[in-house]
Amino acid sequence: MASQTVRGMRDAIQLKKIAPAALLEDHCRRVREENETLGTFLSYDSPDHRAKTGPLAGIPFAAKDNLVTATLPTTCGSLMMKDYRAPYTATAIERLTRAGATLIGKTNLDEFSMGSSTEHSAFYPTCNPWDQDRVPGGSSGGSAAAVASGQVPFALGSDTGGSIRQPASFCGVVGMKPSYGAVSRYGLVAFASSMDQVGPLVRDVRDCALILDILIAKDEKDSTSVSHPDAEGFYEAVTQCPDHLQGVRIGVPDEFLGAGVDREVRGLVEEAAQNFRSLGAEVERCSLPHTNLALPVYYLMASAEASSNLARFDGIRYGARVSGERVFDVYQRSRGQGFGPEVRRRILLGTHVLSAGFYDAYYLKAARVRQQIAFELNEAFESFDLLLTPTTPTPAFKRGQHLDDPMEMYMADVCTIPANLAGIPAISLPGGFVRGLPVGIQLMGPRFGEIKILKAAEVFQRATDYHENQPAGRREGSR
Ligand code: GLN
Repeated sequence: MASQTVRGMRDAIQLKKIAPAALLEDHCRRVREENETLGTFLSYDSPDHRAKTGPLAGIPFAAKDNLVTATLPTTCGSLMMKDYRAPYTATAIERLTRAGATLIGKTNLDEFSMGSSTEHSAFYPTCNPWDQDRVPGGSSGGSAAAVASGQVPFALGSDTGGSIRQPASFCGVVGMKPSYGAVSRYGLVAFASSMDQVGPLVRDVRDCALILDILIAKDEKDSTSVSHPDAEGFYEAVTQCPDHLQGVRIGVPDEFLGAGVDREVRGLVEEAAQNFRSLGAEVERCSLPHTNLALPVYYLMASAEASSNLARFDGIRYGARVSGERVFDVYQRSRGQGFGPEVRRRILLGTHVLSAGFYDAYYLKAARVRQQIAFELNEAFESFDLLLTPTTPTPAFKRGQHLDDPMEMYMADVCTIPANLAGIPAISLPGGFVRGLPVGIQLMGPRFGEIKILKAAEVFQRATDYHENQPAGRREGSR
């Protein structure tokens, strides 16, 4: 296990136990050999053997294929962008490569990040490494499965409504959505700009802090990016924190444990609450009544923003062109053939709720309720340092199980969406197993409260070993 973390690999390189070229070669070979079965990558590179310097020198990583790269294609999992080559590289990737890490491939996703299972990729689905008949979650399912299967020690994802945390939960890895604006969105293909955030998928909390030290920085190229008060202080805070949580107040909102949440998942969250208590934290139940409205509010607002962001893909200005007799045919065919059914559904819904006559009834009302949800969450942080919830109401579901029922699919994000609506940070970390499948617990904190979250998660990981389990056949030494 230790050698599969970023830290373990970094130490092995520094102690000359492994040559960076051999490490890269090994990971690239695994990706080549396993992609046919797992479907984690949409494109990958042959190893770049140039010697690197910096804190992540020699470490391979992957990035979700909605982050643009000058070296590899960027498809967003869509036929609309199947031949797209970006002229520049996203800031988040750029910062990691400047720190010495090597991007070895781009990971599979639901088309334009819309989905919860990676089955909406226009190319092929991704398998959950714990059970290949199940989905890895989504939309950053390729990134989560690549980390869980050991193809890379860490990967980038994006999270608009849960797309980092939900697949992290299904694949038994750690995933974090930082505070809105903490990580640059420059070069992230926009889905819902007021919620999109880039973040890491990793094996444990320490690696999460290590990567955040590099990712979190204000970027002049993204006007919504901000200076984080704790920038570059995450790893130190996590490694130096004491072994207890004395003085930490954790709230467990009732609304996240109600109907629709698997009984055994609820049991794991209650067990985690008990664990936090025995580590010294004060844990209490609380109530956030407006979060019950988070799901409909999110699907109205995110679809509205998506319909506007995706308007540029018309085969004329951007996107693959399908020719036609008249200019209208070009628009219609390019959009009709370029976008898959889920993206079309969101564009239709979003256009409808923004149209004259419906705007006040849907969009404006949703925007108001969003404010109320954010207000209620912020108020909760006057009484609590953190909120503990399940990440997902169930463990990973079977492939095809929710494909014909969008509402069932949307339910997979019911616990993760509130953090996006409020712009606050949240992590998912392994919390145990249900019927042999990993399930995550979620910790949310106040805006810029990343350190509070990371410390509590770290103390939890020091006392438990859920994060050390790996899918069968992928254990250290078994290859
Ligand atoms: N599954 C959610 C959706 O389909 C969230 C997606 C995301 O976070 N990118 O919108």
